[in-house]
Amino acid sequence: MIKFETNASFAKTMDNDDPLASYRDQFYIPKTTEGKDCIYFCGNSLGLQPKATEEAVLQELKDWRELGVEGHFNAKNPWLPYHEFLTAQYAEIVGAKPSEVVAMNTLTVNVHLMMVSFYRPTNERFKIIIEKGAFPSDQYAVKTQIKYHGFDPDAALIELAPRDGEDILRTEDIVQQIENEGDSVALIMIGGVNYYTGQFYNLEEITKAGHKKGCVVGFDLAHAAGNIPLSLHDWDVDFACWCSYKYLNSGPGSVAGCFVHQRHGNDFDLPRFAGWWGHDKETRFKMGPEFKAIPGAEGWQLSNPPILSLAAVKASLDIFAKVSINPLREKSVKLTAYFEFLLDSLNNDAFKIMTPRDPEERGCQLSIVVHKDGKQVFEALEKEGVICDWREPDCIRVAPVPLYNSFTDIYNFVQIFAAQISASDQMKEAV
Ligand SMILES: *Cc1c(COP(=O)(O)O)cnc(C)c1O
Repeated sequence: MIKFETNASFAKTMDNDDPLASYRDQFYIPKTTEGKDCIYFCGNSLGLQPKATEEAVLQELKDWRELGVEGHFNAKNPWLPYHEFLTAQYAEIVGAKPSEVVAMNTLTVNVHLMMVSFYRPTNERFKIIIEKGAFPSDQYAVKTQIKYHGFDPDAALIELAPRDGEDILRTEDIVQQIENEGDSVALIMIGGVNYYTGQFYNLEEITKAGHKKGCVVGFDLAHAAGNIPLSLHDWDVDFACWCSYKYLNSGPGSVAGCFVHQRHGNDFDLPRFAGWWGHDKETRFKMGPEFKAIPGAEGWQLSNPPILSLAAVKASLDIFAKVSINPLREKSVKLTAYFEFLLDSLNNDAFKIMTPRDPEERGCQLSIVVHKDGKQVFEALEKEGVICDWREPDCIRVAPVPLYNSFTDIYNFVQIFAAQISASDQMKEAV
């Protein structure tokens, strides 16, 4: 374990010793109006643009301009199989076999498609377990799926809540609740990392507990993919979905990803909504009337995908392929521990860290609860060139991302934050 220090030169030393420090240069860092680098801690919401992205997208525009429809076969990266260029890297990032992943659609669309196949309620077993305070899109998706099947969300939705006075869920409580209610549960679908608290759930334990009770278990990995190494195949997870624009830096609204365990990927009796891009590649262009699914996750594709967006995903995943997820995680654990250390050393009870203290139970994000006037503190941070985000009622989410954030970023953030916190303290005393 490194012994952290509170001085500025320590942050410099850490950056100098950081083997991944040079990756920052592969990204555009937003600037303040004075032209200084912002402290960008919002990679959990929208990852920064890799410098390689522009050329990758321009390549597709050029091939389209010069080749027209022939680009499907003759583009530098032919469009027909373009999504396949992303498969190996997506598989690596979520810990899957290549046949278990596919780049397609966007996140909430994939959540619905997965529920079409994997939420199969019966009168005895119709409930869905999610975490309380799940990302709204996930809540809307599960509630409307429940209604779509003719059930009442009030009766069918079980929300896992922390104990009174606690911010985060205990794994033992999750497992216990699955144990207690599992017989009536059709599907467990929670976020891998909670977007608000930053808690990383024990996906393996939850999957095990769910399967023991005969439930299907899927995860929304929006805040986990590219943040924490995952082993979806080995954990025996049934399905998972993630977006590519948060930690995966592929641009706003870019094409998402989907995992279907191989045990289901070759089950052609599963109900699914089909489209021609999920049809057997050999016979797709025979344009026949009968759908024959591609084995594996690819069989869930609907449309031919947006190539301009896939180009951005590819440019970003090429960076992940070079760094690989384990060294990234190693740096990430250090960055966040250092961040936590500096915040703790302020020794100020005007705020607290809501995110779990155990590095195993979190990714890079820390959620800071500011007990009073948090919104003002947040706005003051913005004025100083910090980009992070504010969540009602009192939470500032801060995500130092190992690909492009530095120890110095964290040091500078904490200086600014400390000044604002003590300024608001003094204001209180003055009143
Ligand atoms: C970011 C996020 C979403 C966003 O959904 P889109 O379909 O990509 O707009 C959904 N769920 C979770 C858990 C998220 O973190």
